[in-house]
Amino acid sequence: MALIVQKFGGTSVGTVERIEQVAEKIKRFREKGDDIVVVVSAMSGETNRLIDLAKQISAEPVGRELDVMVSTGEQVTIALLAMALIKRGVPAVSYTGAQVRILTDSAHTKARILQIDGHRIQADLKEGRVVVVAGFQGVDAQGNITTLGRGGSDTTGVALAAALKADECQIYTDVDGVYTTDPRVVAKARRLEKITFEEMLEMASLGSKVLQIRSVEFAGKYNVPLRVLHSFQEGPGTLITLDEEESMEQPIISGIAFNRDEAKLTIRGVPDTPGIAFKILGPVSAANIEVDMIVQNVAHDKTTDFTFTVHRNDYASAFKVLEATAAEMGAREVSGDTDIAKVSIVGVGMRSHAGVASRMFEALAKESINIQMISTSEIKVSVVIEEKYLELAVRALHTAFELDSPSGKGE
Ligand code: ADP
Ligand code: ASP
Ligand code: MG
Repeated sequence: MALIVQKFGGTSVGTVERIEQVAEKIKRFREKGDDIVVVVSAMSGETNRLIDLAKQISAEPVGRELDVMVSTGEQVTIALLAMALIKRGVPAVSYTGAQVRILTDSAHTKARILQIDGHRIQADLKEGRVVVVAGFQGVDAQGNITTLGRGGSDTTGVALAAALKADECQIYTDVDGVYTTDPRVVAKARRLEKITFEEMLEMASLGSKVLQIRSVEFAGKYNVPLRVLHSFQEGPGTLITLDEEESMEQPIISGIAFNRDEAKLTIRGVPDTPGIAFKILGPVSAANIEVDMIVQNVAHDKTTDFTFTVHRNDYASAFKVLEATAAEMGAREVSGDTDIAKVSIVGVGMRSHAGVASRMFEALAKESINIQMISTSEIKVSVVIEEKYLELAVRALHTAFELDSPSGKGE
């Protein structure tokens, strides 16, 4: 008998009918004899609705109170699903994060899981119950409700699977696996049979929202077998694995990720002296703003230009910080651009192939797409381009790296 943790996302529990369908599915699994722990998200749109409500009271709601409120979304779905199971004669019990004791740190709205107490769940499983746990939420050492960041139910699922030493963690969603790129943007995207943790982590970090980044980190760290599947269609889904298969057919690029979440800032005419990067970025990091890509131009007249990207939400504050720095340093000007997008190609195959970046640049050049910034690591190349060319760029790269599905409509 296996122990399986199954996580169902927002659209999969978006209506009462869907919750009934999920209950039917779980019932069928139970009949096969496996122990099931279910993690659910809030009904789709509910978390956004709650955040909007809070913002009607305050532009920057206090984190603790926001968490008290947004955690209610998941509390509704666990109860509804448990009721739907019980109605079908499947013994079930629902728990909030605090009731399980999913202990987190106190970083409201982006808390990290520190420890999970599996005793209560184990006892219920022994009694033959399906345990339904609220995703996305936990409790800190002082008993305050915390949440794990948007998309955090994935992390609850994987963390529970790790704590309970489950045989598999299955992430059920509205697509039938991890694709070469977002299938909603590229119709020719293909489902991947397998992807390594390392690649999935890059894809998630670079913008593919199919799995929350931390869930992939957790799965890699605790070696939790992880699979992404469609909630209401049969199929093998995508397995996230540790092993990099030595296959001749392995593509160089596994996937293309993109995001529109960043903004670019430039400070021009900075004196080109040692310590300049620290002088510019020190105050930015002191303001708690994370910097992603950085470019410093070669100086030709003892001054240099320095460009970096931040999350769009941090753009206005970063701009203010940079203006203050510019005044202090006697820099020429500060400028910025929020209409940018980052496109990245990801693949462990890059390690053993040369010329991947130039192939990427060639494909973009053919479409006359200008590259504003570039950054590379061992298994990815990212570029910043004008936002309006994003979809064109992703499609061109998908074709250039031979990822298009032969049928032209996904698999
Ligand atoms: P859930 O509510 O089930 O957590 P999400 O909306 O968080 O679902 O994640 C699923 C969505 O992720 C898909 O609908 C798809 O548009 C998007 N997505 C982005 N990149 C990918 C990718 N590479 N493969 C599959 N889905 C992707
Ligand atoms: N309901 C939360 C969100 O919308 C968590 C999740 O769905 O994973 O972000
Ligand atoms: Mg999600």
